[in-house]
Amino acid sequence: MKTIYVDNNATTRVDAEVLEEMLPYFRENYGNPSSMHTFGGNVAAKISRARERVAALINAEPEEIVFTSCGTESDSTSIWATIEAFPEKKHIITSRVEHPAIKNLFEHLSKKGYQVSFVPVDKKGNLNLDYLYEHLTKETAIVSIMWANNETGVTYPVDEIAAAVREKGVVFHTDAVQAMGKLEVDVKNTAVDLLSLSGHKIHAPKGVGALYLKKGTKFSPFLIGGHQEHGRRGGTENVAAIVGLGKAAELAKKRLEASALKTAALRDKLEKNLLERIPNSMINGDTEHRLPNTTNISYEYVEGEAILLMMNEFGICASSGSACTSGSLEPSHVLRAMGVPFTAAHGSIRYSLSDDNTEEEIDFIIEHTPPIIKRLRDLSPFWSQRKAS
Ligand code: PLP
Repeated sequence: MKTIYVDNNATTRVDAEVLEEMLPYFRENYGNPSSMHTFGGNVAAKISRARERVAALINAEPEEIVFTSCGTESDSTSIWATIEAFPEKKHIITSRVEHPAIKNLFEHLSKKGYQVSFVPVDKKGNLNLDYLYEHLTKETAIVSIMWANNETGVTYPVDEIAAAVREKGVVFHTDAVQAMGKLEVDVKNTAVDLLSLSGHKIHAPKGVGALYLKKGTKFSPFLIGGHQEHGRRGGTENVAAIVGLGKAAELAKKRLEASALKTAALRDKLEKNLLERIPNSMINGDTEHRLPNTTNISYEYVEGEAILLMMNEFGICASSGSACTSGSLEPSHVLRAMGVPFTAAHGSIRYSLSDDNTEEEIDFIIEHTPPIIKRLRDLSPFWSQRKAS
């Protein structure tokens, strides 16, 4: 059975060109980049090249890029480094719809005595900016707002928020893990101090990420150890993965526009057809401010997990809510924050496309989804009650 993979916000396939460029760093070029000999020095030079490529993707300077092990580490490092730099400031701001990498950390900090303002969203998932600005003071240590939401694809006005935060003299971090390779991100045009990205969302391998650290930002390392990454992250570099991230960043930059156009056209076709063919279905999230590759659709009166299992029988891979929340029957915190009714939140499916997807695959999903929803609804007492009333 062919796999139809529309779960690219969870992870992506490693691009063949990326893998090709990584392989020599497992085989022949296995030197330690910190070594004095040329054998290690050649590896260090390749890491520098990767740094330039990642910097180019976001229009940063190479020395502003720190390689990490994942998006989560970049997020954690940003927050811990900043609160350590400003120990007198005990107030921090984030949104109600962040990825668990930020959400759970802020909840942890709130138990440690930090006052946390969680910015609410409206029913389309747009941030309540008045709330953010009312709570932003000189006593705030950091504001962390994601660039784009992993579950709904909704994008946030990071330019505007970052400018307002900088005006107050407060540090601004953005989790741009989902924006990368899908939207243009330019740190010279946006007043961000810290930005997180992750390899496995842009066709590089899992287990590598990067942190943009604007020159002059107060910083102390999260992993204290050797002098790697110019003393900003201890630990021998994951060389092959860093090389892969560099190549993936170069490809993402080159393909950005074409990829956005292609995925948006396929996504729009999928969305339009599913909504037309399936009654009581609706899109979660603002369709005007959204990643080109993502749609989150609720099918009322059915369970997302049951839909996923039946899709799986046809080889279709998607998510209910987010990969991190599936496995629990609680609707995702993002949909709850948006006030999506329980009957709809439970039956939400996220389809996230990549360049790899084809029109035939989209047609296949369009053909097979309506009968799946019908079968499940025929079994649902809530659906029959609703039809009877
Ligand atoms: N932030 C967002 C918005 C994400 O979507 C993810 C992964 O799904 C992460 C952070 C975590 O990235 P990683 O899996 O590299 O730790």
